[in-house]
Amino acid sequence: MLEQLDRKHIAAGHVIFSSGDPGDCAYLIEEGEVEVIDPITDLVLGNVAKGEVFGEIALVDRHPRTATVRACRETRLVEIPRSLVEELLTDANPIIRLLLTIILERYRTNIWHRPRPANMPATEDPFQAAVMEKLTLLKDMRDAIDRQEFELFYQPIVTLPGREIAGFEALIRWRHPQLGLIPPNKFLGIAEETGLIRLLGRWTIERACRDWKALREVAKVEVPFISINVSGKQLTDQNFALQALATQQFFGVAAKEVKFELTETSVISNPKLASLQLGVLHSYGNIIALDDYGTGYSGLSHLKDYPFGVLKLDQTFVREILMSSLSFQLVMNSIQMAKALKLGLVAEGIETDDIATALTEMGCDHAQGYLFGKPQTLDYWTSG
Ligand code: C2E
Ligand code: CA
Ligand code: CA
Repeated sequence: MLEQLDRKHIAAGHVIFSSGDPGDCAYLIEEGEVEVIDPITDLVLGNVAKGEVFGEIALVDRHPRTATVRACRETRLVEIPRSLVEELLTDANPIIRLLLTIILERYRTNIWHRPRPANMPATEDPFQAAVMEKLTLLKDMRDAIDRQEFELFYQPIVTLPGREIAGFEALIRWRHPQLGLIPPNKFLGIAEETGLIRLLGRWTIERACRDWKALREVAKVEVPFISINVSGKQLTDQNFALQALATQQFFGVAAKEVKFELTETSVISNPKLASLQLGVLHSYGNIIALDDYGTGYSGLSHLKDYPFGVLKLDQTFVREILMSSLSFQLVMNSIQMAKALKLGLVAEGIETDDIATALTEMGCDHAQGYLFGKPQTLDYWTSG
């Protein structure tokens, strides 16, 4: 890649950039040497020689140059334009980006032993406020695990047409001491971004397995099931499957009564690990469900390599079957395909009786939604 970059030949004494210039590139010294000059005192702060890089901080923090750099002798520079790193930085995790900016700013003010110039603002990432909020949430979440502020709510999944409870889906909630009950979409994103989901996911499986002994008594079928959501990041933990199996064994839960729900995105983003880990769980008797079916891009064709036993039809389609012929057709096709492939099928998000009736007529045999029961605590289900 270095060969494709522009080169600059600089005569001795020539100024490469001055304090206040836009910092749009960094330089690698291929030959020669440069000196870094304090713009206020005009003193030489230090030298940078062959094989070293200078001007790199401006690529990250986008501030104008804070020092002047002059060639001490004839020098050949390779130019590293900002465009080359900009995309990487934009895509980088915002927390990593903030940390990088802070570290580089410290480095800049420390390396030449001088204070930050008065006109140079402190680190000012436009996302800083959002990042700080995320960091606070992350810290809070770590503490919340220790303080046992997370809870699992359980929503029933019923048979059709009988509408009897066949199993439950475990849905996580955070009972925050000040903010009250926080739904998963408020904190799972950051847990996934930072890897905390692995810890949280382990806790979820443990709690669901622990609660299952009492909860399964509420179900009305011969082989009831507990459905546990798994995020793609959890699969990157190499011990995920074995740990999940060990937990089931510890709590005396039968493998055939445990379902793991994954979305297409979480599987596709880790194809090798997913097929390995899900294969292990499947071989021990766990059931793997494809969550939010219908919202993904590839349909089932890309997913034939995974051991899915159940499709969960997303609520966006189910809800519209009486209004949109496209949704009706999609749901109808999914039901027929599931039957042909001998897959289980659960229709999600059913709030009204006419939709439940229509689904029953279409041949759907399992359903979930507020009509049959909202997510509730273990106590709610077992104390009645
Ligand atoms: P999901 O897996 O698709 O779960 C179904 C969501 O739909 C739940 O939202 C549930 O409360 C909601 N729901 C169920 N029936 C109805 C209905 O009739 N109408 C409407 N409007 N909504 C209904 P919730 O509990 O807020 O969870 C949101 C998402 O968070 C879940 O979507 C799942 O992707 C994720 N999630 C929840 N718990 C966990 C967990 O323990 N681990 C992981 N990795 N993800 C979780
Ligand atoms: Ca789910
Ligand atoms: Ca779903």
